[in-house]
Amino acid sequence: MAETIHLLPDHIANQIAAGEVIQRPASAVKELLENAVDAEATEIRLIINEAGKSLIQVIDNGKGMSEKDAQNAFARHATSKISVIEDLFEIRTMGFRGEALASIAAVAQVQLKTRRAEDEVGVEVSLENSKVISTSPVAAPVGTSISMKNLFFNVPARRNFLKSNSAELKHILEEFTRVALAFPEIYFNLNNNGQEVYHWEGGSFKQRAIQVLGNSYQSKLVTVGEHTDYLTISGFVGKPETAKKTRSDQYFFVNRRFIKSAYLHHAIANAFEGLIAKDSFPSYILYIDVDPSKVDINVHPTKQEIKFEDDKIIYAFVQAAVKHALAQFSIAPSLDFSLDANIQQLDAIQKPFTEGQVNETSRKSLYEGFTQKNQAHFIPRSDQAGQQDWKSFFTEMPTANQEFIVKSSSMGLYKEDESLSVPEDAFLMQLHQTYIIAPTKSGLIIIHQQLAHERVLYEKYQKASMQPHATQKSLFPVVLELSASDAVLLEEMIEDLANIGYEIEAFGQNSFIIQGIPADVLAGNEKNAIELLLEQFKHFSADLKFSKREKLIRCMARQMAIKAGQNLGQKEMHGLIESLSECDIPNTTASGAPTFIEFNEDYLDRLFSK
Ligand code: ADP
Ligand code: MG
Repeated sequence: MAETIHLLPDHIANQIAAGEVIQRPASAVKELLENAVDAEATEIRLIINEAGKSLIQVIDNGKGMSEKDAQNAFARHATSKISVIEDLFEIRTMGFRGEALASIAAVAQVQLKTRRAEDEVGVEVSLENSKVISTSPVAAPVGTSISMKNLFFNVPARRNFLKSNSAELKHILEEFTRVALAFPEIYFNLNNNGQEVYHWEGGSFKQRAIQVLGNSYQSKLVTVGEHTDYLTISGFVGKPETAKKTRSDQYFFVNRRFIKSAYLHHAIANAFEGLIAKDSFPSYILYIDVDPSKVDINVHPTKQEIKFEDDKIIYAFVQAAVKHALAQFSIAPSLDFSLDANIQQLDAIQKPFTEGQVNETSRKSLYEGFTQKNQAHFIPRSDQAGQQDWKSFFTEMPTANQEFIVKSSSMGLYKEDESLSVPEDAFLMQLHQTYIIAPTKSGLIIIHQQLAHERVLYEKYQKASMQPHATQKSLFPVVLELSASDAVLLEEMIEDLANIGYEIEAFGQNSFIIQGIPADVLAGNEKNAIELLLEQFKHFSADLKFSKREKLIRCMARQMAIKAGQNLGQKEMHGLIESLSECDIPNTTASGAPTFIEFNEDYLDRLFSK
């Protein structure tokens, strides 16, 4: 009996792999251009016919290949760029997976001509169906020329999937532009059906930006430039007047690699908030340079998606850098920080960091970058009356819980409850970081800190859902990715959450972005908080006697309450008791557990009587 498992011949395996790397002519263009860049070319020409369907050729003046390399280059996993796995974390070249040429040779008729400076003659290699069909010496200039004809000639199904020439050409122009923007020092030329389309001399980043965007941008670009030990950001954003109704002219590069990132796009859009219409898109060309070990570019075959070691910090940085640039462009020549009215409206200027954000950032070396006087966040306004001064935020920053409790105590109707009347100057004792022992007018009380706080928050949220609650815009909006069923659940809760201060937006399929959190909730673990909330909510769901809102409020209160095991200072304990005494029903939690137990004098006397 014949065996049923067999190994796929190379050319078929390559064709399958090619499906990931080479989806259309533009993908081949990208790979070939990047190879030319990696070969340190200073001039790169792209020639295409019929939108790349019949011919794609890239000619470079880079370092070329030896005869042997020229033949090996097309083997699967053939690369000169990495050799041990650690190299993956230090990549400074565009390519490294050794898949592009193998993929291209699997789906097109390929001809390579190449010569190194040290060789007198070059070599010409032709391939079809992944096989070398001829090799011969050839007279050639230093550098490499690779041409691929009849893309997908041997995979008709793929060929049929290609779009019209104009659509495929558009993709090619996009890829070409991205590489050209990433490497402005290189001369780029594009020829389509015998006509020169682009001819971009090498120059500065600004010059390349103008070549790509058009001369009209000469006076419409705002330069972005921030440098810290962790990363550098540079490039340009279009002045607000260049914003468009469509997403075009938006480029983001990390270590000179074009990447797609809805998250970072959001950071930039956020920086433009209030400056451009809500339904329009800012144009930008931004470059981030960061130690290669801080990013993972190997998360996607086309390398257009990457993972940052810490994307929140990148987000914050991008946003701050763009804001700073925008603020500067409208600053009067005297540089006296009197900003124009639009800029003054920006959240980042209106609001100092919350302590959570400070805690978060201060742990990072980037912190420095944000605390410099001329950062947009820290531009002091002349009319600061009534606003918390940013300086005092750093010098007398309350701890999270103090702040939390002090704030909550100012809410709610005041209703005197004798048993909770603790003298202001009484010394309170915290026992096992869970119980607070406090003297009262008529005896003593033992308060359960967590349950008491739960009651305080419960009433607060209850009242808040009748009148919208204060929100703090997150400096680090967080993306939440949920299962389909959780996404449906959260979708239903968005409105109620908004009432208590959570600003959450749907963001693609099953994804949400947390834009703002209740003003008195610590920033930083909002993602966790929402996930926990969903979990609790699911457990609660079976309970039909409560409305959705009631369930939500109960979950929130439970989750946000300070926990048993947490150290509290005198001020915090007094604050908590005061807040509790202001509650409508101070003595139990919403679910009926006691929040405190009272021992009045009579009872104590009786205990000690003979
Ligand atoms: P990768 O770029 O991931 O290494 P490729 O399949 O794109 O893989 O290329 C394989 C190898 O062929 C490269 O590592 C490089 O050594 C060589 N090569 C490809 N294109 C060129 C070029 N234009 N000039 C010089 N060498 C090249
Ligand atoms: Mg490559």
